[in-house]
Amino acid sequence: MAQTQEETFKKIVAHCKEYGFVFPSSEIYDGLGAVYDYGQNGVELKNNIKRYWWDSMTLLHENIVGIDAAIFMHPTTWKASGHVDAFNDPLIDNRDSKKRYRADVLIEDQIAKYDEKIAKEVEKARKRFGDSFDEELFKQTNERVHGHIVKREALHERFAKAMNDNNLDELKQIILDEEIVCPISGTRNWTDVRQFNLMFSTEMGSTADGAMKIYLRPETAQGIFVNFLNVQKTGRMKVPFGIAQIGKAFRNEIVARQFVFRMREFEQMEMQFFVRPGEELKWFEHWKQFRLKWHKALGLGDEKYRFHDHEKLAHYANAATDIEFLMPFGFKEVEGIHSRTNFDLSQHAKYSGKKIEYFDPELNRSYTPYVIETSIGVDRMFLSVMCSSYEEQQLEGGDTRVVLHLPPVLAPVKACIMPLVKKDGLPEKAREIMNELKFDFKVAYDEKDSIGKRYRRQDAVGTPFCITVDHDTLNDGCVTIRHRDSMTQDRVRIEDLHEIIRKATDPKELYRKIVGDSMEDSME
Ligand code: ATP
Repeated sequence: MAQTQEETFKKIVAHCKEYGFVFPSSEIYDGLGAVYDYGQNGVELKNNIKRYWWDSMTLLHENIVGIDAAIFMHPTTWKASGHVDAFNDPLIDNRDSKKRYRADVLIEDQIAKYDEKIAKEVEKARKRFGDSFDEELFKQTNERVHGHIVKREALHERFAKAMNDNNLDELKQIILDEEIVCPISGTRNWTDVRQFNLMFSTEMGSTADGAMKIYLRPETAQGIFVNFLNVQKTGRMKVPFGIAQIGKAFRNEIVARQFVFRMREFEQMEMQFFVRPGEELKWFEHWKQFRLKWHKALGLGDEKYRFHDHEKLAHYANAATDIEFLMPFGFKEVEGIHSRTNFDLSQHAKYSGKKIEYFDPELNRSYTPYVIETSIGVDRMFLSVMCSSYEEQQLEGGDTRVVLHLPPVLAPVKACIMPLVKKDGLPEKAREIMNELKFDFKVAYDEKDSIGKRYRRQDAVGTPFCITVDHDTLNDGCVTIRHRDSMTQDRVRIEDLHEIIRKATDPKELYRKIVGDSMEDSME
């Protein structure tokens, strides 16, 4: 029987734990809400994702450089950025279940329910009418569907206005009017909606000498903005140019669920691209396309990505979109691309009293650059890779296997070397091969159990190649290489192994694919 997406997701989470990808944090003490540790395979996969991102920014673009700013920053940073006053989520509690929810998410889920109802009716009708089906006409003329659409639109408009006006009473009223119930208790016994600031704070220095309240950064971007002048001057950077950074960020999320999708401590890969005022929308479009190419080059499936343009723009933004990925729980944001105007640099200039401008020699004038931001969560990227790679495969003869079809570039282990038997000099030969390959690739060695079992173990962690050393190897200098996805086997010469593995796992092959046709119109 086909399993539901929910069941599949549960299996992926269990698989991540069983095979050393992700563990709950401090598990021996029963874990800590929405905090996770990466295990021996998880950290390799994550590092490979980070390298793929970092190099695609800093190697492919001569005008993008990286930094590594501290997590602790002067507290005024967060006043200037607006996080102290406005980095809030509207929360609501259900008095019966004592569960806490984000009011905006409850309403968004309600809108999604209307969408589902509409889509179901449309699908039913499409089947009934066949080729002659006209979806638009059907939506306008079918009374029931039209009713759903009208209700959905009205709700959407009311919700957007309440969010824009920061009207918490109205958010609660919407929840009551829509008769939204708590999924746990099933009741509508809701508290008022309150604002909740998502920043974690701590104290620096001892209380005796006046401790200072500081925050754990909720995004890495501000570390880039406050270093704008440092990097621009010391790197003699010319607009347009970018600064990239990978690092931890912290948010006290109200509802943390869906595994590593929403964590309280997570990692971001952000790039701020500084451009001339007035050119920001051109660059926004450029970065949208570039980032989508970066995702698609991994080969997880082009149909799993879509853009979702923001309807409610942050007060400082003049364009924003998300790259969404089809997770087992629907299309979800993995990356945000935002045109942030000159808001951040201007705010830091205002609060610090420093002049933060760029003198443009071509225009012969100074200005505060505008910014395009690309911001992707490492953990969400990790999850999208995991979810689209996991397969429980039925094999001929009634056998099954669990295989991770990881993009070879990202696979934690690139090849596993296996002596057919544990004697006759085969282990020594296998070690010899491994010792040659290990300088360039993460390789493993396995001599325990039958070859079949060893293959399954490597399939489960997504190793693209298994290399078997047998008795013939000692005479003909050849080994059997088994391919993870097709399970086909080839006999190849030992000296060819390096090139076979390199070709499949070298990120350069992907960089060429991304750059291919897109760069001539990109970086001057
Ligand atoms: P959401 O609406 O899902 O809370 P967001 O719009 O607040 O996300 P951004 O502030 O744009 O997210 O952050 C950029 C990226 O950082 C996101 O696209 C996501 O990949 C990642 N991210 C944000 N919050 C979390 C989190 N709590 N756990 C894991 N990744 C996160």
